[in-house]
Amino acid sequence: MTDKIDIPDEAVRVKPIFEKEPGREIADEVRAWVKRTGEPHLWRGHTHTKPPGVGTQPLYIGRYSLPVLQGIQRWAPCPCCSPNNLKYFREGRIAWFPEERVIRNIGDKCYRTLNPEGHELAERGLLTREREERRRTYMLANFDKVRPMIEVAEKIVPIGQAVEAARRILAARFDQLLPNAFWEYVRDGRVSIITRHKAPVQIRGEDEKERWFELPEPYGSPLSGYLLFKRPGRSIVSGLKKSIIALGAIDFGEGFREHIEAMTTEHRAQAERLFAKSRSEIERCRTVIADEVGFFSAMNIATLKGWSLHRQCPAPIYIDFSDGKMIVGRDQNSASPLELPPDMWKRIPELPALAG
Ligand SMILES: [Zn+2]
Repeated sequence: MTDKIDIPDEAVRVKPIFEKEPGREIADEVRAWVKRTGEPHLWRGHTHTKPPGVGTQPLYIGRYSLPVLQGIQRWAPCPCCSPNNLKYFREGRIAWFPEERVIRNIGDKCYRTLNPEGHELAERGLLTREREERRRTYMLANFDKVRPMIEVAEKIVPIGQAVEAARRILAARFDQLLPNAFWEYVRDGRVSIITRHKAPVQIRGEDEKERWFELPEPYGSPLSGYLLFKRPGRSIVSGLKKSIIALGAIDFGEGFREHIEAMTTEHRAQAERLFAKSRSEIERCRTVIADEVGFFSAMNIATLKGWSLHRQCPAPIYIDFSDGKMIVGRDQNSASPLELPPDMWKRIPELPALAG
């Protein structure tokens, strides 16, 4: 597009009014102006003169895109390369030139021709600035959930303790009855029975003979929650407690917004990492609990009961479930219910949902 346009003197007048690095509010003001008018070169703070090249280091303090107004895509003139013609329409950069103390609204790639390295550095700086801005917005929108997250984790602790106790109770009963740890029978996520097969074998110096082989064969459906029997088990309580401590360090209370605004970018990054890490750790603990409690499903019990009664079952054990209790023993007569901590059946509270 080469339409020549009139540039008012006011646009060309140098406005050295930005002594310090312009804040977020300036970038917001430019964006709002461009969105409304489609004319970045007419913003009150814009200096429509050609910027100096190599040896100058501008800062890109924001980006904007030119709007479609009354159904027409707006184009803008660029002081870098095309001051009197409409030159670009996709994206612009709000560029601050510290030495001249001016802001120029320019095309997104325009300054590259005048100062390639300066442009690249400014682009990288813009990405960092935008990332920090997203982090700040995210934290302002979500750090009121730090306290509720601590409370949820505290409520999950006794449930986690109950599941960890259940692991010990089950191991004590099962491992005492069996020649191997019960884990050895379920480590593939399902139980097996032993089947016998006949196959010909050639032994040196003799004729080929038929021999019997024993092979394990999967029995029944896969067992949900079988990791309940793995040693050592997946951490629950220690993970929850670590998260509670980490969240405690970023629980800024009622004044969390002021606190976040006042933080350095490094501290903000650190706080956001703690927040995300604690949240995913609590989520992981919730998943482990739900998974291992799922071992006591009707489907699992039916599978295990059938397996324990099967004459090719490799483990001499009896398993049943009755009146909400798991019954385990060497046989039906000697089997007795396992006393599992009632807290393990509690509903696992959910973490508060996040904004944005
Ligand atoms: Zn340009």
